Amino acid sequence: SSASTPIRATLFPGDGIGPEIAESVKQVFQAAEVPIEWEEHYVGTEIDPRTQSFLTWESLESVRRNRVGLKGPMATPIGKGHRSLNLTLRKELNLYANVRPCYSLPGYKTRYDNVDLITIRENTEGEYSGLEHQVVRGVVESLKIITRQASLRVAEYAFHYAKAHGRERVSAIHKANIMQKTDGLFLKCCREVAEKYPEIQYEEVVIDNCCMMLVKNPALFDVLVMPNLYGDIISDLCAGLIGGLGLTPSCNIGEGGIALAEAVHGSAPDIAGKNLANPTALLLSSVTMLRHLDLHDKAESIQNAILNTIAEGKYRTADLGGSSKTTEFTKAIIDHL
Ligand code: NAD
Repeated sequence: SSASTPIRATLFPGDGIGPEIAESVKQVFQAAEVPIEWEEHYVGTEIDPRTQSFLTWESLESVRRNRVGLKGPMATPIGKGHRSLNLTLRKELNLYANVRPCYSLPGYKTRYDNVDLITIRENTEGEYSGLEHQVVRGVVESLKIITRQASLRVAEYAFHYAKAHGRERVSAIHKANIMQKTDGLFLKCCREVAEKYPEIQYEEVVIDNCCMMLVKNPALFDVLVMPNLYGDIISDLCAGLIGGLGLTPSCNIGEGGIALAEAVHGSAPDIAGKNLANPTALLLSSVTMLRHLDLHDKAESIQNAILNTIAEGKYRTADLGGSSKTTEFTKAIIDHL
């Protein structure tokens, strides 16, 4: 209610379509009377020596202080001497798990009607860190680092999530038959954690078989937990099952309970500034942020308004085959609140 003190949250509108879809979130939150006060931070135009990136120290401090935030897509700046924006956020805020819920949207027809799964991706190590170098000309090497600490941490989060959200099963996705040491250690850690959660079923699925099963019958899966690079690939595959990147939300979980929600997609420079972007992915990300804050009523009413607008089919953005502008679609959601 308006009488209670608002919760402060950091907002990075980001680049490209970012400011347009962030505006949509701000308007929907206002209409739904969500008790959140945004602290807005933009990516800088110069490298901040304190972060060695275009992200300012103040913006990182804002997330550390608020412990919760929403991030629009950030374009990767070209040139040397700075760290990637997303990598800076992940490292500086210790965002160790990336959670991507993926479920069929009623009324928006894809090949499947019954997708309802969660991918949980280890976010800090593995091949994805890009620790690569040239040994000699024509021979390069990439280091795949897997640690017990990071594997236990993400496995613990996956089982905690499954229990907290009434899920039945956790599947660890791996290639330990070939990557025996690295994926082997990841699996060993998942098994250790599984023993502490006897009420949650646990299984191990080899990644190639997992891909086949996912496209054949995605209802076979519930919560999936996996190392970084596999998570990068599988979660986009899952987005494709339900209609694409304009729809799928995610949330990054950091140490000490930090949550930074973000859409999975990038800054979409091809449609930026044209009022064409689909704000659904960022809106649903903001819903995961509200759930993290235990604002379940607000989360539920916003999520229903989005789903009902899409199901009704009158207002849809171009990526979903419609002709609505971002602002028209946003207004339709507000009307459904
Ligand atoms: P992209 O996701 O920006 O775009 C891929 C395609 O999907 C484009 O055709 C785009 O128009 C469409 N699309 C994406 N989001 C949409 C939306 N909400 N509504 C409608 N259509 C949408 O991927 P890209 O072109 O490879 O990357 C562009 C930039 O974004 C790059 O600089 C990249 O580094 C950055 N990026 C950032 C993030 C992030 O911040 N998390 C993630 C991916 C890419």
